Amino acid sequence: MVTGASKGIGKGIASGFASAGAKVLVVARSEASAAAAVEEIVSAGGTANHYCADVSSRTDMKAAVARCVELYGGLDVLCANAGIFPSAGLESMSDDQWDEVMNTNLKGTFVSVQTCLPELKKSQAGRIVVTSSITGPITGFPGWSHYGASKSAQLGFIRTAAIELGKYQITINAVMPGNIITEGLEDMGQEYLDQMAASIPLKKLGSTEDIANAAMFLASREAGYVTGQTIVVDGGQVLPESLEAME
Ligand code: NAP
Repeated sequence: MVTGASKGIGKGIASGFASAGAKVLVVARSEASAAAAVEEIVSAGGTANHYCADVSSRTDMKAAVARCVELYGGLDVLCANAGIFPSAGLESMSDDQWDEVMNTNLKGTFVSVQTCLPELKKSQAGRIVVTSSITGPITGFPGWSHYGASKSAQLGFIRTAAIELGKYQITINAVMPGNIITEGLEDMGQEYLDQMAASIPLKKLGSTEDIANAAMFLASREAGYVTGQTIVVDGGQVLPESLEAME
């Protein structure tokens, strides 16, 4: 199950898993884009279905898990990826703006993990991969204090979850993407993309495949002894101490 898989990074993760032979359930709220993502995956030879659910709703997520079991007979890997990043300056941020981001990004991660647990416990190799970010845990960006807090909190969550879930042989880890090219980012225009790429040591933005590859590693048999950990996938973006470091 990949949440937030109708677009962007989640769609990349779902496509990566499907091309590696996994049967994928695409979860998102919008029917049209979730169905379109599934069509794309299926036409590339993968197995995928979609289910419309809001990750912050326990009722929705229980139904999504039930659909997964009905379709595929169980659930081995949860990629808790759904997230939103509406910009709001700290001085004028409303309680509703704060709550919306926390409900989706943080509570949504908790609800996704908790509702999937009964099935993950039945799996021989239950895996959870959370999509966090460099923004919050390592860096900051104006307008994203709520977002950064939610992405840092996801890491606090996985560290204790890893201890509690260890007895079931379930691992939980996080991928921390830097700037990844998604449909939304492409709309910002080439000049913006070029400027961002110039500030990254590898001189390019990441792709959704880059994040999918890290998620697939964390879900693999080979990563079976890795839990409560993070992988930064950012082309070195967090490394330069100053502008001079990039000259
Ligand atoms: P995106 O292109 O906007 O896609 C977000 C996905 O999440 C969509 O499928 C959306 O579908 C779904 N979604 C949003 N709210 C949801 C909810 N309440 N319940 C279920 N699904 C929901 O975003 P993205 O850039 O791929 O980001 C995906 C994740 O990567 C997020 O957690 C984000 O924080 C993280 N991330 C992104 C970047 C980046 O550069 N793009 C960098 C670091 C971290 P619906 O709207 O139809 O529900």
